[in-house]
Amino acid sequence: SLGAADASVSGRVRVAVRLRPRNTEELAADADFADCVELQPELKRLKLRKNNWDSDTYEFDEVLTEFASQKRVYEVVAKPVVESVLDGYNGTVMAYGQTGTGKTFTLGRLGDEDTSARGIMVRAMEDILANISPQTDSILVSYLQLYMEAIQDLLNPANDNISIVEDPKTGDVSLPGATVVEIHEQHSFMELLRLGEAHRVAANTKLNTESSRSHAILMVHIKRSMSGRESDFSSENDTPHLSSTFNPPILRKGKLVIVDLAGSERIHKSGSEGHMLEEAKSINLSLSALGKCINALAENSAHVPVRDSKLTRLLRDSFGGTARTSLIVTIGPSPRHRAETASTILFGQRAM
Ligand code: ADP
Ligand code: MG
Repeated sequence: SLGAADASVSGRVRVAVRLRPRNTEELAADADFADCVELQPELKRLKLRKNNWDSDTYEFDEVLTEFASQKRVYEVVAKPVVESVLDGYNGTVMAYGQTGTGKTFTLGRLGDEDTSARGIMVRAMEDILANISPQTDSILVSYLQLYMEAIQDLLNPANDNISIVEDPKTGDVSLPGATVVEIHEQHSFMELLRLGEAHRVAANTKLNTESSRSHAILMVHIKRSMSGRESDFSSENDTPHLSSTFNPPILRKGKLVIVDLAGSERIHKSGSEGHMLEEAKSINLSLSALGKCINALAENSAHVPVRDSKLTRLLRDSFGGTARTSLIVTIGPSPRHRAETASTILFGQRAM
């Protein structure tokens, strides 16, 4: 069938790549050098330079250049996932890449001063608020970070050892003890993001690092109660009056998870010791476990190895049969970071 052919071509995970523009430092220092990648967005292709005359070509579901707007990035990467969550499915949007390549810019930017800069989290909530009915539906939000295999509440950092509970029958994941905030309007959601981001930065400062060594995880639960009348409206033979009398409301529960992953750069184990080494091992463990699960999804494998890390256990009910996953891999243009960029591109390729 067409569906099966589709699945074998693109898998169940949609993968986009986004290139960050050169920053001022790169503009000055690398002025004489070409970018390490060349994008062909119409062909959905990326060329990774090997040397001056040779390059490897990769295809993605979407190729976003340094000129792609935040609005376009939302529309191609996140909007289809948000739509399926509004229909009652689980959906995940994840950003993977080296520190400094634009994961937080893509997902978490608030855009207070300039609304065109708003990232995926803010746009997703706007979309959700515009599509639900406040009388019958509810939106519940939690914001967490996962660091060294411990889950911390970004809305209440004292709460730093949240456990994952899995329903043995349904496989649904819950986090008893995590702060849950009911959202009625965009303003309070923005405040929640601001608070969570401040706590994430404070945690990084304590660790004396600018890079994010934790995964930040936003969870949005949407519960909708559609009246029988509304959902039967398309059927011509039904009189709306009768169906609203006899049909019980239909409950739809969807969960949107947005994950700003820890920086994927390899930490040189030889130079690290003690805490740094443990931290590096923990990040490598969770990112490689995630990679294995995404590969399993992409290959339509019956077995998705979720048990190997807390990150994948947490995302377990987002890896189910009807769940949608969108991965955005972020890269920088600098020829100095070619090796890291190559490894990010390969992570994205294996997910397709
Ligand atoms: P990460 O979260 O991957 O470590 P950031 O999102 O913090 O990276 O981005 C690093 C820097 O690059 C920030 O100053 C950010 O504003 C800038 N940046 C990232 N992506 C873009 C982009 N697409 N356009 C313009 N600036 C960007
Ligand atoms: Mg970041």
